[in-house]
Amino acid sequence: MTTRLAIVVPCYNEEEALPETNKRLLALLDRMQTNGVISADSAIHYIDDGSRDKTWPLIKTLAATDTRVHGIKLSRNRGHQTALLAGLLTAEGDALVSIDADLQDDVNVIEKMVAEFAAGAEVVYGVRDSRAADTAFKRHTALAYYGLMRKMGVDLVHNHADFRLMGRRAIEALREYGEVNMFLRGIVPLIGYRAATVKYDRAERFAGVSKYTLRKMLTFALEGVTSFSVVPLRLITLLGFLVSVFSFLMILFIVYGAVVLKAVVPGWASSVVPIYFLGGIQLLSMGIIGEYVAKIYMEAKGRPRFFIEKTI
Ligand code: UDP
Ligand code: MG
Repeated sequence: MTTRLAIVVPCYNEEEALPETNKRLLALLDRMQTNGVISADSAIHYIDDGSRDKTWPLIKTLAATDTRVHGIKLSRNRGHQTALLAGLLTAEGDALVSIDADLQDDVNVIEKMVAEFAAGAEVVYGVRDSRAADTAFKRHTALAYYGLMRKMGVDLVHNHADFRLMGRRAIEALREYGEVNMFLRGIVPLIGYRAATVKYDRAERFAGVSKYTLRKMLTFALEGVTSFSVVPLRLITLLGFLVSVFSFLMILFIVYGAVVLKAVVPGWASSVVPIYFLGGIQLLSMGIIGEYVAKIYMEAKGRPRFFIEKTI
């Protein structure tokens, strides 16, 4: 039995890269269909994440020229993860591959992914061999971030972004996760089932500039931590404990100085400094707690994650 493949591509202002991406993806489908690896109703789904440029008209044109091309238009910009999710939860198929629109991920690796799927893997992770094409800033921040996440107990696949294949069973499992803020890289390993990895070299963006602004990157990073880890909350407890022990020792020292040494000079610094010190720690701690409270607040609302405006 041949696999019905669906390729899901989130697009935000990708008018420059899209024509070439489409050409390469269609060539891939042609080749795999000729080889009898995937079925005739395999397709490509472009998810327009509220683009401000001509991305959607372009998707419409592409869909009109080939019946295997489909488009999903979100009602506004909701971010990469949500756009991806919209595609994954909507597209039909036995195996769904998610890939960026900018051709940084090697489209030909999809063939290897499908081969792994045919061999029994339910999830296949695309893992980049080198990060040579990324900027030094992106490389270093990414490395530090993955290290931090691992310390906080989040199970992430090393050097894997969102280029992966998921079988129908994994997709249906993903649907069960009710959280509104999805950090897919953390959720997918939690699903389980048999997994495989395929390696590839990450290229430079084909055209246009990164759609991940520093702000979006920071939000994404914070999202990853607060969605998966309660370690920051535990650190507050630890910090509080350490400060208490320190204060207790300080009291002992002062009593010792007053009773035994009789040499305590009532100082301005010793009374004012702790006020600032403790005030700072309290504010910091409240900030972290606030982060989680905000999360509970948002999740408790159970807002719908996306609305599809149109499908073609
Ligand atoms: N993207 C999206 N919504 C956004 C930002 C990005 O759908 O709000 C898409 C974008 O079109 C691309 C993918 O997510 O297909 C990855 O974005 P980009 O290549 O700009 O990120 P980078 O590779 O620089 O991390
Ligand atoms: Mg990119």
